[in-house]
Amino acid sequence: MRKILTGGCCCGSVAYTLEDQFSSFYFCHCEQCRKMTGSAHASNLFTSPENITWLHGQDQLKRYDDPVRSFTQVFCTACGSALPYQSKSGKSLVVPAGSLNDEPSKKVDARIFCSEQTAWHRAGLNSPEFDKFPG
Ligand SMILES: [Zn+2]
Ligand SMILES: [Zn+2]
Repeated sequence: MRKILTGGCCCGSVAYTLEDQFSSFYFCHCEQCRKMTGSAHASNLFTSPENITWLHGQDQLKRYDDPVRSFTQVFCTACGSALPYQSKSGKSLVVPAGSLNDEPSKKVDARIFCSEQTAWHRAGLNSPEFDKFPG
């Protein structure tokens, strides 16, 4: 039996399920991923386009395809959360790992575009850890 994972956006408008079956998992430090996520890197899992069942909210999705470079963002129009999308080639489904409610069994294969990794992120990996706001 294959494990089923659930996922969705932050506001609950959009929800999906998929099988815990991924071909790759990358942290991408490129500038586009940084802008798109507003964070240090994108965390993207790759699977087959058929491997998703939208439970609700598919009509809330908005897609942005960059006209020049090959990157895409799909997000909930209510809350802005990143959600899975079919790559432009149609060959794979890109799943932002943070949109999952569950832990995928796939481990991260590689960190890519590391030449574009920010200095603040490199330094921040060595900062003290807290379970809530320090103070
Ligand atoms: Zn939402
Ligand atoms: Zn990237």
